[in-house]
Amino acid sequence: MLAALQGRVDTSVSQIRPGLYLGGLSARLSVEKLGIDYILSVIKPIDYSGRDKASSKRMVIPVDDMADTNLLQHFPMCIAFIKQALAAESKILVHCAMGISRSCTVVAAYLMSIEGLPVDTALQELRQKRPMCRPNDGFLEQLHAFDVMNKKLLTQHPAYKKYHLQNLAEQWQENSTIDTSTLANPSDTAGQVLYRCRRCRRLISTQTEVMSASSGHQSDASASCLFVEPMQWMSEITSGHVQGKLYCPGCKTRIGSFNWAGMRSPTGAWVTPAFHLQLSKLDAQSTQEAHSSVQIRQPVFRSTPLQSK
Ligand SMILES: [Zn+2]
Repeated sequence: MLAALQGRVDTSVSQIRPGLYLGGLSARLSVEKLGIDYILSVIKPIDYSGRDKASSKRMVIPVDDMADTNLLQHFPMCIAFIKQALAAESKILVHCAMGISRSCTVVAAYLMSIEGLPVDTALQELRQKRPMCRPNDGFLEQLHAFDVMNKKLLTQHPAYKKYHLQNLAEQWQENSTIDTSTLANPSDTAGQVLYRCRRCRRLISTQTEVMSASSGHQSDASASCLFVEPMQWMSEITSGHVQGKLYCPGCKTRIGSFNWAGMRSPTGAWVTPAFHLQLSKLDAQSTQEAHSSVQIRQPVFRSTPLQSK
């Protein structure tokens, strides 16, 4: 089947817009002839015999053509690079191996962002110029999420969070590990509810990282836990274990647990994967008041500072 596909597919370069070219690896052969000086490679690096290394006109997004590859996180950088090339009145080639999935996804995201096209229209436009354009199912999902986010990467948007969590779960299932660089990192910003370790005051989470599935019972006095998205401080979740405990990175107090296979929430809903914090170990602090922060949940006790003897 692959041979039949290869026989049928024209892997030569296609011009999508003035100055914007799309293709597979073989398109690189046309670069000089077409006067293209910018190259965006959406593929793991291949030895090009030392050509065009470390140039400002060269960008490599080293990803595989897999449904669970998070290409979405690279959209803004790719779009900016294409924009930069075209603004300089230069020509740019966006390529992957075959010019079917990865590079088409990136160029579709560019058309959506710059021309304001919905995902289906962007893909139609692409296929008019390059009929074999076909982002894999995972990339298609990411383009739809990009559409929902108004053609921006909004990491706090529920559409991104949902995609991201699903993606992490798939990565974990396949490799028993995840790309931790994409995990959230809570920061102490105004207008937020902050959750600090009751013992050492370290910032553990903010309202932003709380998953919407659990937000419903936050005001419920009986709520004992908080379901959150995975965060960079949770070193335990990449240990290779399906489930385990979460410890405060500051004082090592146990503050929650995780389960890649899922966990039942107090409301009975099944959350997969689940990262959960015990509210009894945290203090919630509102920063919404301008002048002084107000405790909205009083600590039961405070640990006394260590006394030197
Ligand atoms: Zn702590």
